[in-house]
Amino acid sequence: MVSNDKVLSILLEIGEKIEEEKLFLTELDNVIGDGDHGINMARGFDAVKAKQPMMEGKDIGTILKTVGMALVSTVGGASGPLYGTAFMQAGKVMAGKMEIGMEDFLAIMDAAIAGVQQRGKSTTGEKTMLDAMVPATEAMKKSFAESGDAKKALDDGLAAAKEGIEYTKTIIATKGRASYLGERSIGHQDPGATSFTVMLEVIDGAI
Ligand code: ADP
Ligand code: MG
Repeated sequence: MVSNDKVLSILLEIGEKIEEEKLFLTELDNVIGDGDHGINMARGFDAVKAKQPMMEGKDIGTILKTVGMALVSTVGGASGPLYGTAFMQAGKVMAGKMEIGMEDFLAIMDAAIAGVQQRGKSTTGEKTMLDAMVPATEAMKKSFAESGDAKKALDDGLAAAKEGIEYTKTIIATKGRASYLGERSIGHQDPGATSFTVMLEVIDGAI
């Protein structure tokens, strides 16, 4: 089980990692979008950091909801409302809880995916963050059901997310700005699938 304090420190670490990857994420978005994904995400996680005092000692649901609201209110572009919704939905799953286990994390991922799908009117195979989130979650569920080992499940989820990034290179974008490129989007990895994988990598590294 992971405590509320640890969840907060992981979220702040995600912010640091997003800041480190800002240029890379922005370069990816330059090729198939408008070149702001890294800037958007870094701005969002700056706002998360600013809310740190409000989150300290709070239950995990409140922490995740606060992150979601910070992202929605500060990130321009599609990714703000989408990740914001994902974190807010995740917060509902964790309402009042001071500890989180792997089963909770899997429930969070289901809620986050459903939130993105509903808000983005999107599904897998459209070259979006969902192409990393969905296979990662499926892999974690399968792995955890088989082994009961949370760390192994996260490792397997991260590997599946990375495969998801590779898969986005092979398909045409049909959602978001990248869809304007049609076939020219082939050959390039999706920025949102990449930023999700960055987040999962931090979580895996912290467990
Ligand atoms: P914008 O496209 O508005 O500039 P960002 O550059 O911050 O916003 O985010 C782009 C990312 O958002 C894409 O790489 C993709 O993963 C994700 N995205 C865009 N539209 C959707 C959607 N409808 N559903 C899921 N994800 C989406
Ligand atoms: Mg963009």
